[in-house]
Amino acid sequence: MSTLDEIFEKIKKYNRIVIHRHQRPDPDAIGSQIGLATILRDSFPFKQIKVVGKQIDGLSWLGTVDEVDNDFYDDALVIVVDTANPPRVDDRRYENGDYLIKIDHHPNDDPYGDIMWVEEDASSSSELVYDFYEQFKDELKLSAEAARLLYAGIVGDTGRFLYPATSAHTHEVVARLMDTKFDMVAVNQKMDSMSEAVARLSAYVFENLQVETNGAAHIILTNEILEQFKLQDAGTAGIVSLPGKIDTVSCWAIFVEQQDHSYRVRLRSKGPVINELAKKHDGGGHPLASGAKAADTNEINDIITELNELAVKYGENK
Ligand code: AMP
Repeated sequence: MSTLDEIFEKIKKYNRIVIHRHQRPDPDAIGSQIGLATILRDSFPFKQIKVVGKQIDGLSWLGTVDEVDNDFYDDALVIVVDTANPPRVDDRRYENGDYLIKIDHHPNDDPYGDIMWVEEDASSSSELVYDFYEQFKDELKLSAEAARLLYAGIVGDTGRFLYPATSAHTHEVVARLMDTKFDMVAVNQKMDSMSEAVARLSAYVFENLQVETNGAAHIILTNEILEQFKLQDAGTAGIVSLPGKIDTVSCWAIFVEQQDHSYRVRLRSKGPVINELAKKHDGGGHPLASGAKAADTNEINDIITELNELAVKYGENK
C-alpha cells in the first residue's frame, strides 16, 4: 500500500480529524491546512474536521481556526501540514491524538508521526494537498474555496512562481485549481498589497541594507526601528524578499529583534545554500529559504561572517 493510500485509509477511518500547521504561519501553512480541511469537510460532511493554531489577523482573509476541546483529541486523527520539526508545530496538543500524520515539503531532517509524506521537490504543501486530492478525486471534492486556499499557498511559497521549486507540475496544478473558477484576481490583489507601514519599512530596508561586494547582504531591524514604523515581528514578512531584487545580491539575512532582545533570523538566497548555516543557529528550512535564531550581537556577527563566506564560495564556483 502506498503512503497516500495509507493516509487516505486513516482519513476514512477517523470521524474526528484535527489539522495543525506551523507557528508564525505563512499563506502556504494556512492554505494547505484549511485547504485540506475544506476538501475533507466537503467530501465527508458527517466527519468533524477542525483546524487549530494561533489566528493571524493579517491572514484572516484566508480563513479562521476552530475552538477544539482537549478531549476531542482522544480518538482523533491529527494531520500536521507544512511543518518540518515538532517544536514548530502550532498547538502542542498535536501529540494527543490517536494517530499522527506529517505532510510536508521541507527537508525531512526531523521525522515525526506514524506516517510521513514528505516531498522535498514540491513547491509547497498546498501543491501536495492538491496532489492528494488528484489521487483520490473519485472520492474527494475540490470546491472553489478549497482551490482558492491552495492557490494562495502556492503563490506564497513560490514567490508568485519566481522560485526554483516552481515546476511544470506546479503550473498544471494551478491550471486545475483555476478550473474551479475561484476568484484568482482577488487572491492576487491580496497577496500583492501591503499596508502603508510595510511600504515605508520597505523604503527603509532598501535605504539601509548593508550590501557586500561578494553578494551577501543584511539588515538589522531592532525593536526601536520596528516601533518607528508601528510594526511588530509579524509585519516584517512583506519585506523579506526585497533584498533579492538587487541584482548583485546572492544571499541575505534579515535580523528581527524579539521582545526578549534575541533575534529572529530570516535567511534567503538566489544561489548559495543557506540551510546548513540556519541549522548551526537553532534553525533550519529549505536550501534557499531558511530561518534561525541569534541570541545576541555576537551571534549576529557570526552569522554575517558565515553568510559572507557562503557568498564568496558561491562566487568562486560560479
Ligand atoms: P521564515 O523566514 O520564518 O519565513 O522561514 C523560512 C523557512 O525556514 C520556513 O519555511 C521554515 O521551513 C524554516 N524555518 C524558519 N525558522 C525555523 C526554525 N527556527 N527552525 C527550523 N526551520 C525554520
